[in-house]
Amino acid sequence: MDKTEYQPSARIQALSPSATLAMSQLSSELRAQGIDVINLSVGEPDFFTPDHIKQAAIQAVNDNFSFYTPVPGYLSLRKAICDKLQRENGLFFTPEQIVVGNGAKHALCNTVMAIVNPGDEVVIPMPAWVSYEQMVILAGGTPVTVETTLEQGFKLTPEQLEAAITPRTRLLMLCSPSNPTGSIYSRAELDALGAVLERHPQVLVIADEIYEHINYVGRHESIAAYAPLAHRVAIINGVSKAYAMTGWRIGYVAAPLWLAKAVNKLQGQYTSNASSIAQMAAEAAYNGPQECVEQMRRAFLRRRDLIVGLLHDIPGLEVRVPEGAFYVFPRVTALLGRTIPAGCEGAGTVITTATDLAMYLLREAHVATVSGDAFGSPGHLRLSYATSDDNLRAAAARIKTALAKL
Ligand code: PMP
Ligand code: GLU
Repeated sequence: MDKTEYQPSARIQALSPSATLAMSQLSSELRAQGIDVINLSVGEPDFFTPDHIKQAAIQAVNDNFSFYTPVPGYLSLRKAICDKLQRENGLFFTPEQIVVGNGAKHALCNTVMAIVNPGDEVVIPMPAWVSYEQMVILAGGTPVTVETTLEQGFKLTPEQLEAAITPRTRLLMLCSPSNPTGSIYSRAELDALGAVLERHPQVLVIADEIYEHINYVGRHESIAAYAPLAHRVAIINGVSKAYAMTGWRIGYVAAPLWLAKAVNKLQGQYTSNASSIAQMAAEAAYNGPQECVEQMRRAFLRRRDLIVGLLHDIPGLEVRVPEGAFYVFPRVTALLGRTIPAGCEGAGTVITTATDLAMYLLREAHVATVSGDAFGSPGHLRLSYATSDDNLRAAAARIKTALAKL
């Protein structure tokens, strides 16, 4: 057989690449070519990991924390996570219910794999983070996407949830604060969704709370606190966003015992433990002083106000003020159908989709964004404002100039 005939498995062929990571990669490549691209694509805090966390990692290296750890993570880290869940969320978990993985992404994918059988339906309110649907596809499940709009605050209503559930529904994937919209479900909204789920005991919930601490409206609320659901919610969280530790790759799932055991079994065959050194750093993050989290939250809030103010001033962008996370998700439908003018790369081409618009902004304004198409919401763009005020001002000015040409 000629080697050109080899193909990856059908499983991998069915997957789409991650659009967030692809856009970020493209922007790095352009920068390497000397083009001054402002990268508002990937969602990643621009702060350095706080010093006391870095010191804990250095100490762990010096103290020879260099061996395999238990598959679900050091017991001391899982205890620190249980303490955090009790202290900050009023939720009671035992260390046996925690599995630490290589970032929240890994914990999430493990959990989807441990829940979903081929043919199971998984309800995903859209827009949703790019990886949810793909993880469900990887597990052989059927994503059932439910569209939410800017007018409804991009939040799933109880009526929509009820209508989406069938006897084959196995899972609901909920993200609050949300990537990409920054929307946050209130206690009352979570309870109303909980009341619907009470009528459908076969449905489990994954609550992705990775943006928990980047909240501008108040206390974090978890659907796991809705008591009748406590035994069927898996919480996903980690240190990436709250402690500026994206590269350390530590996330976890806190789940009912049967599910934590299933995730543990999968992880034992698939990746083993997450990095021992990064685990020690994460333990310092959870047990150490928390002022750094609040300082970063305040910085993100200031930047949110800055970017929202700047974008409000740009004709064609409809901006909803996000309550959390570090993304704005303007609707751009007013700009679709316009033609790239003479003198610009791609002149004469009609911009028909948000993806076309994102590519135009990359080429013309040298600003990298992510198209809403990747999040299941055509007609929107996602901009991450986890970058400096100067970058935000410059990016908004460039976007304004480029859009004015259309
Ligand atoms: N969930 C959401 C909604 C995210 O935006 C991210 C960002 N990467 C993750 C999970 C994964 O986080 P981590 O970097 O810890 O894998
Ligand atoms: N969660 C971030 C984002 O949405 C990081 C990239 C990724 O893992 O998708 O941009």
